[in-house]
Amino acid sequence: MTLTAVTKTQAEAAVDAALAWGQRVFGENRVQEAQARWTGARRATQGLELRLIGPLQSNKAADAVALFDVIETVDRDRIVDALAEAAAKAGTGNGRGLRVLVQVNTGAEPQKAGVHPKQADALIARARAAGLAVEGLMCIPPPDEEPGMHFALLARIAARNGLPVLSMGMSGDFETAVRFGATHVRLGTALFGAR
Ligand SMILES: *Cc1c(COP(=O)(O)O)cnc(C)c1O
Repeated sequence: MTLTAVTKTQAEAAVDAALAWGQRVFGENRVQEAQARWTGARRATQGLELRLIGPLQSNKAADAVALFDVIETVDRDRIVDALAEAAAKAGTGNGRGLRVLVQVNTGAEPQKAGVHPKQADALIARARAAGLAVEGLMCIPPPDEEPGMHFALLARIAARNGLPVLSMGMSGDFETAVRFGATHVRLGTALFGAR
């Protein structure tokens, strides 16, 4: 299981402390904030893996492809197309494709990012057809519901699509997520304290 350290809005000193203790996998919410932070020696850290876990606008696709190793928030056709185009231009992935996860709105919440669970299979197929390396799925359960059923739904969609990676579980619910098969938990507050 991989711990993704979520550094959004954290002080630079907290990020450097995490690097010093050996943390190498980081999640960032915003392309611009991440661009400002991950430069120079930090960016050059051996083994560093940067994962975008926040919503992506298609006009930021090229910037995201240039900075991130994995984009976890693919949730609509437009983003698939924008990422595929940006990755092709940048020559990302050595022909194996840009590494992505599809974000699923497991609670079908109206305002929330993520593809509706019923449309997930189609979006996964489209992303694969566009040449993206779809590694798995990501979700953020509704805050007021038992998270286990959402994690179970994500695991089912992943299994029927042959996807090994499940990015699920945050500070408040990661123990449940691990029980349901999370391969990546995304922890901010539990690691760094309140934002
Ligand atoms: C902020 C954030 C996290 C980390 O949240 P914590 O509750 O602080 O652990 C994880 N995933 C996403 C998508 C986030 O935006």
